[in-house]
Amino acid sequence: MKRVLITGGAGFLGSHLCDRFIKEGYHVIAMDNLITGDLKNIEHLFQLEHFEFYHHDVSKFIHVPGDLDYILHFASPASPIDYLKIPIQTLKVGSLGIHNCLGLARVKKARVLIASTSEVYGDPNVHPQPEEYWGNVNPVGPRGVYDEAKRFQEAMTMAYHTYHGLETRIVRIFNTYGPRMRLNDGRVLPAFIGQALRGEDLTMFGDGSQTRSFCYVDDLVEGIYRLLLSDYAQPVNIGNPDEITIKEFGEEIIKLTGTSQKLISLPLPTDDPKQRKPDITKARSILGWEPKVSRAEGLKITYDYFKSLSKDDLFRMAHHKTF
Ligand code: UDP
Repeated sequence: MKRVLITGGAGFLGSHLCDRFIKEGYHVIAMDNLITGDLKNIEHLFQLEHFEFYHHDVSKFIHVPGDLDYILHFASPASPIDYLKIPIQTLKVGSLGIHNCLGLARVKKARVLIASTSEVYGDPNVHPQPEEYWGNVNPVGPRGVYDEAKRFQEAMTMAYHTYHGLETRIVRIFNTYGPRMRLNDGRVLPAFIGQALRGEDLTMFGDGSQTRSFCYVDDLVEGIYRLLLSDYAQPVNIGNPDEITIKEFGEEIIKLTGTSQKLISLPLPTDDPKQRKPDITKARSILGWEPKVSRAEGLKITYDYFKSLSKDDLFRMAHHKTF
């Protein structure tokens, strides 16, 4: 039986990856310090013989007994609000955290896959963004702690690959959504749906002309799974190229939820990228992957998830304050 370590295993993406690897018949070890992760996301796995949870900060030395075939490094705050609140931890998990994972991988002779991000492209001057684009990042802006940590993480991973011959994979993840997003993480989808559910106006930043391209989580997980099992060590974009303005997105959420509230405009945060859309030529040709779930389907599933949460869960998710 193959054994996989998933850091950030109690988070939004990490928990979906735990589910997928359990389904594929792996022994799954999830590691999380629960700063932004939530045990609720993985509690359904606790009774399984082939699932283990380590409450541990991956920025500190990692000890995992037994063999490991794969290490997936998904631990990191991942929303602009989070990394504004915990900038140092964000930098540490992307730098010290990946160093620990890579060291562990050498000892275990494991393959490492790291969660990188479209943020390595910053506020891009090239559109859509292919992997060859080097980006336009402000290192000292509010997003710098995340963007630079992820860029360092890619550099460190490539160095272990070329210098130590470690097997490595790099996925650049574009905006992804789905069940288990944290309602108060500040990202646009949980913000809008949460506001609609509470009967508040939807807070659009700026004039809403900035674009994003939203990928449903199951599609992302499929792309990551294929990349891990491929033999391709260079970065690969995984995301849905279906681009939309934030204003249109807000209008879609208003329609979906049937709220009688409206979009209101708040100031645009510093360094908010004006446009973002993945070029997925590589994922198509190397992995035979492309997204299958339309935004209409994915948003419906996600809205149903948020609606199905109990009042207690909604309260807990809205006031989850461990930092
Ligand atoms: N946004 C917004 N209202 C919100 C939260 C976000 O208009 O309440 C905008 C944000 O300014 C950005 C886009 O939605 O242009 C996506 O933001 P998110 O934080 O989800 O992710 P990003 O792609 O910026 O990292």
